[in-house]
Amino acid sequence: MSPETLVQLPSVSVPSLRFSAADFEQHVMNTYARFPIALERGKGCRVWDADGQEYLDFVAGIATCTLGHAHPIMVEAVTQQIQKLHHVSNLYYTQEQGELAKWLVEHSCADRAFFCNSGAEANEGAIKLARKYAHTVLSIHNPIIITAHASFHGRTLATITATGQPKYQKNFDPLMPGFYYVPYNDLAALEEAIAHLDSRERQVAAIMLEALQGEGGVRPGEIAYFQRIREICNEKGILLILDEVQVGMGRSGHYWGYENLGIEPDIFTSAKGLGGGIPIGAMLCKSSCDIFQPGDHASTFGGNPFATGVALAVCRTLEQENILANVQERGEQLRSGLRAIAQTYANLISEVRGWGLINGLVLNSDVELTSSDIVKAAISEGVLMVPAGPKVVRFVPPLIVSAAEIEQAIDAVKRAMATLV
Ligand SMILES: *Cc1c(COP(=O)(O)O)cnc(C)c1O
Repeated sequence: MSPETLVQLPSVSVPSLRFSAADFEQHVMNTYARFPIALERGKGCRVWDADGQEYLDFVAGIATCTLGHAHPIMVEAVTQQIQKLHHVSNLYYTQEQGELAKWLVEHSCADRAFFCNSGAEANEGAIKLARKYAHTVLSIHNPIIITAHASFHGRTLATITATGQPKYQKNFDPLMPGFYYVPYNDLAALEEAIAHLDSRERQVAAIMLEALQGEGGVRPGEIAYFQRIREICNEKGILLILDEVQVGMGRSGHYWGYENLGIEPDIFTSAKGLGGGIPIGAMLCKSSCDIFQPGDHASTFGGNPFATGVALAVCRTLEQENILANVQERGEQLRSGLRAIAQTYANLISEVRGWGLINGLVLNSDVELTSSDIVKAAISEGVLMVPAGPKVVRFVPPLIVSAAEIEQAIDAVKRAMATLV
């Protein structure tokens, strides 16, 4: 959200927590524009605020709470793991890390996994691996990674540089060298960029993209674009890195977003939904580029038995309960409901787009109405949603969402629109 959409928080006083927004703001750094709700507990796809007000949660911690809130399997996994072993460092082997890596390898195109704690950190690992590959395998000594406009790869210095959106970079320069941006889904621009860079001894080592741009406006990748990129990478021997942090882990209706595009990356990253809300990230790669050696990369918390044990329970639940089928069916239901609304308000809404349970309601760029206006109106109707930029309302509920809950969200959008026009 932009600073203009910052919401002024009223002071709420709650007997149990004695929550005070003023107190909160006094002690917590001012890095987030928060909606004026203090959430206290959750169950399934619902959360409750400090006053006992119920909300249907179509944000899910921003595409993170795969199994919703307080899922019995997560409660059990967390409880068991904390009692057994939670952290020992990567000086030793632990069963949970090995099992999670095995599950991920068996359910993706990758051969190996590295574990860390967040999406940005997973992307840092991918960038480091691509740079080492450039130096040691491709003999490129000034490696460039091409990324896309409107992308989002995280908030560390390397990943804000990779992120093709100036608003995330402003005032944080000098940025990291070695990145170059192209418009997304534009093949001619990409081919031109590669030719331009390679002719100037700034050689391309990798192309790093989201299979579907999440933060950048829920924009799915085009099949022909990604298939040609795969060919280009094969022809040149360079790496294709996919950032699957938001769209991966079942959200697209397949385990990984790239399955919607009929291609396989050399490296991909995961985080958000991987632990169902427990902090964990992963960077995965094919054996052909698995060139890290001991000492090249590390993370103190990365892959600890707590995070990997819980993530393993989340992964196995996705599989055993056939949750991907629910993602596809509920996604269809949501898009058709939103498309009906888009028809009613054709002057305001330009399209509904997405895969599985990551969908966007896209507003016409020339209207005054913003995504944040709709999100605020929807909160008043008891449903939480999140903007993906100023003109797209994003719907990323838990993957276990029911048909009745999808209907409730659609109705809330209808009522919200009625109050706004
Ligand atoms: C959220 C996100 C990230 C950053 O993840 P953090 O866990 O916040 O560091 C990176 N890439 C994509 C595509 C994301 O959606």
